Amino acid sequence: MTWLFDSHIHLSDPVYQEDLSHTIKAMESMKIKACCVSMDYSNSKKTLEIAKQSELILPFIGIHPECANNDLDQMMNLIQDNIDIISGVGEIGLDPTYVQSDEDKKNQTHVFESLLSIAEKYEKPVSIHSRKSLDDVFEIMTSYKTKNALLHWFDGSKKQLTKAMDMDFFVSYGPVMVYANDKQTLLTKTNEEKILVETDGPVRFSRCFEMKSAQIGFIPSVIFCSSKILNKQYDEMAVILERNSKKFLGI
Ligand SMILES: [Zn+2]
Repeated sequence: MTWLFDSHIHLSDPVYQEDLSHTIKAMESMKIKACCVSMDYSNSKKTLEIAKQSELILPFIGIHPECANNDLDQMMNLIQDNIDIISGVGEIGLDPTYVQSDEDKKNQTHVFESLLSIAEKYEKPVSIHSRKSLDDVFEIMTSYKTKNALLHWFDGSKKQLTKAMDMDFFVSYGPVMVYANDKQTLLTKTNEEKILVETDGPVRFSRCFEMKSAQIGFIPSVIFCSSKILNKQYDEMAVILERNSKKFLGI
């Protein structure tokens, strides 16, 4: 039996709390496992809590670049204390959108590097946010031997994709790829062993998704679309993605 994987979703977001048991049931019946990423310390604690409800929820904890002013020491301790429970570290990364001063930039970089160090130390995979910061992420990552790294919601140029492949990153594509030609082109140029799929829920998607908040049930659509673009059968695509997801997670 093939398991589907959502490689990046915020199931610990308040949006999902009311219907979480329903989401878990859907995951069971649709055979979907989810890398549940976190935003900050309190959200990471929430992720650990909901992961107890189902083994299909694979907890990733960390500090998102938007929350770089979060208490880093507290976060490092939380990771250390739960190192045998967590599946990975994330969501971590860089994003100039949330930077207002040199001080902010320094702090965001420091948080990212510290979390990369701990992931490297314990050989945990990392889920990386690289919006408008891919080249800086590449630069920093040359100094780390993290076990496996995912550039989630890959949104770079073809040249940056080549660089990502050279550096052995995984890259993930989500609901945008269903309707955006540039993402479809990037997919065709991605090493087949490095492709993952995600929803990044609760992000809202336009066009055919009608601004609905992403649900775990969007994953089969993303897989179906990938299979069409790559001229494969759906089942064949699902098998490739399962293999890649397991490799990313080290399971
Ligand atoms: Zn995210």
